Amino acid sequence: MAEKIGITTTIPVEIVLAAGFTPVDLNNIFITDSDPPALVRVAEQRGYPGNTCCWVKGMYGAVKKNPYINKIIAVTQGDCTNTLAMVETLQHNGMKIFPFAYPFDKDMTFLSDQMQKLAGALGTTIEAAEGKRQELINLRKKLQTLDRLTWEENVITGQENHYYLVSSSDFNQDPEKFEKEVDDFFSEIKERAPLKKNIRLGFAGVPPVLSDLYRFIEEKGARVVFNEVQRQFAMNPECDGLLGQYLSYTYPYDIKGRIEDIKREVKKRGVQGVIHYVQSFCHHQIEDIILRDSLDVPVLTLEGDKPGAMDARTRLRIESFIEML
Ligand code: SF4
Repeated sequence: MAEKIGITTTIPVEIVLAAGFTPVDLNNIFITDSDPPALVRVAEQRGYPGNTCCWVKGMYGAVKKNPYINKIIAVTQGDCTNTLAMVETLQHNGMKIFPFAYPFDKDMTFLSDQMQKLAGALGTTIEAAEGKRQELINLRKKLQTLDRLTWEENVITGQENHYYLVSSSDFNQDPEKFEKEVDDFFSEIKERAPLKKNIRLGFAGVPPVLSDLYRFIEEKGARVVFNEVQRQFAMNPECDGLLGQYLSYTYPYDIKGRIEDIKREVKKRGVQGVIHYVQSFCHHQIEDIILRDSLDVPVLTLEGDKPGAMDARTRLRIESFIEML
């Protein structure tokens, strides 16, 4: 069985696979754990402050719960300093860390150097990673189809769209098995009639820690037809090589690229309103100012803190937003 290596956010996973490792997205094992709040408590008991993002604390707890992870690729630029500090606490206790940085200004040479460096550190080459990219193109195209079926043919729910796209950061640790899961899902929805939800919503921002968000939105007669960051995780396979693919990924660079992407998709998908999800104590909250200024549709800024079901106030705000639309 391939050795596992933790990742704290989306990185060029093709390099990890080419090096013979199994990527494990720490966010995914945190949020799909049987008891995510318990993992947050592990970090707090270790001394993490109450006012630290729960994704960071949850990732720490997930590593502690899964001791088979003894190597992590840490994004030192293009993610967040909280995650970096979390990884440093693990390094302090002997964890092997491989740094990877995204250039703020999308500098091609910088990114290429970072990819080369990571490939070298993991014992592989960019050529081998390019080979892995080719192997994954079919799966990435299926995810594109899944996304299109969500907004164009309206046969996929916002939650289903979220699940498949967000899982593509590490392909649930097994690309082959994950592709089979996607194929089975396509068979399952083959006869599904278009979903009758009138209000079309977009979801921008980091993936939510809230477990019942999509279900509640649907209960109230709306549907998420655009998951911004999750769609970015799935990547555009029709890019010019590995470098092109990770340059067209908007999330780790400046907000301008993200806004352009959101505006384009909002228009294309007939999105009537956008929920901008922000995580408590996350620097992305500040970007809400730019997002609100830039979009032509109403924006509801929704803050989530602890993993689990939404509180009454958050539910009420979503309900009022849908009613207003
Ligand atoms: S939500 Fe924000 S603070 Fe938390 S891990 Fe993600 S980028 Fe960092």
